[in-house]
Amino acid sequence: MRRDGGDDAGGVRSERRTFREEANDRIYETAVDHGSTKAEFICECADELCIAVAPIYLAAYRAIRDIGRPVLADGHKPAP
Ligand SMILES: [Zn+2]
Repeated sequence: MRRDGGDDAGGVRSERRTFREEANDRIYETAVDHGSTKAEFICECADELCIAVAPIYLAAYRAIRDIGRPVLADGHKPAP
């Protein structure tokens, strides 16, 4: 497991991944570590400040990532 020492440790990674995608990957990994089948992921809708959660199965999360779709809470819309 990686530890984040501080705000300015290392350079900023400028992949296309967003903060919420990174967070969801961690949620996914944590859920896998705990042997869960389902977890609450952060909504990745068009509203960057959205903090809604979307409870989805880990298998479904993997499928969503495979096809490059965002994780969305009920009724939330993806960025155009
Ligand atoms: Zn949302």
